[in-house]
Amino acid sequence: MNWSWKIGRLAGIDVYIHWTFLLLLGLFVMSPLLGGEGPVAALTSGLFLVALFGCIVLHELGHALMARRFGIRTLDITLLPIGGLARLERLPKKPLHELLVAVAGPAVNVVIAGVLMGVLALAGGLGRLLSLNAESFLGWPFLVQLTTVNILLVLFNMLPALPMDGGRVFRALLAMTMPYTKATRVAALVGQGMAVLFFLGGIFISWTLALVGLFVYFAAQREWQMAQFEAETEGVPAYAAMASRFYSLDTRTPLDEALELMRTGQNDFPVLDGGRYVGMLYGRELLDSLPLGRPALVGELTRFNIPGVSERDTLEEVLAAMSTTGLESLPVLRGGKVAGLLSLDSIRLFLAARRRAASAATAAGKECERHAA
Ligand SMILES: [Zn+2]
Repeated sequence: MNWSWKIGRLAGIDVYIHWTFLLLLGLFVMSPLLGGEGPVAALTSGLFLVALFGCIVLHELGHALMARRFGIRTLDITLLPIGGLARLERLPKKPLHELLVAVAGPAVNVVIAGVLMGVLALAGGLGRLLSLNAESFLGWPFLVQLTTVNILLVLFNMLPALPMDGGRVFRALLAMTMPYTKATRVAALVGQGMAVLFFLGGIFISWTLALVGLFVYFAAQREWQMAQFEAETEGVPAYAAMASRFYSLDTRTPLDEALELMRTGQNDFPVLDGGRYVGMLYGRELLDSLPLGRPALVGELTRFNIPGVSERDTLEEVLAAMSTTGLESLPVLRGGKVAGLLSLDSIRLFLAARRRAASAATAAGKECERHAA
């Protein structure tokens, strides 16, 4: 993820932090200082945020380690001010596996809250936790606050609103009795309904809740589109959707020529060396290099480590390769030569054409039925 720094590696997974987290940390430290509460209160407030994000990292690690049990790698974990994000290379296919991966995160917070409550009970502070009173929340000691926040994290995450953990559990339960795409449709609609409630409630209660509502609404919509996309691309071979007319560049071609070719609408180019495929030139990287006084030749900006896909790979595999590498287009190779180019756009256009053909066929079918009657 852009603008994120690596802060460490846990169980073989890189953990990143987004720069906006520093803003939040600044806010947590500065507000007690500005309120005249002194440096100790400011330090406690900062430490609280760090401890809270520690709990969120462990939550994400719960998802990641459960996914690993089912052979799914986690690419990285990123901490954003709105929470954590564990990027799995793919979602589990079996509903039971998806359910377990989704539950593993909140389960970690249940354990943390349990341990903290044990500590509080020993210290005689459990009574303060039980006398829930939102107004005195900020005056509560550190451990009581941390316990409460962990409990809230569990309750909030388990709301059945896709893409939150509870929504994934809900989808997995539905998928045990109906097709996956339909289960996603239902779960996404329920998620969007709850998002509208968050938004409306948020207007009266807090703007953060309203923002979460907006976020959940669009994320649920994306989940549904992705599921639809996956259902449509299932089993389709790469060659069916690739662009077979495209420009290639040689490593020794001047970059000016690449810029000129980009005006035809092609953004990314296979790069050849003596007719043999060696890598890709990505238009976005070329444009990014312009203000820096760009290099002169294609070879200097070529990414040489792009393996490409085979014609027989399915679009599902291609999309998985795109999401793990973060690349929007990949070359399709046939015997070391570039047979075509696949991009998200070419896949979208292919699907649109197929949908059109399918609806034309249905219309023709109806016409025939009418004649027969
Ligand atoms: Zn989670």
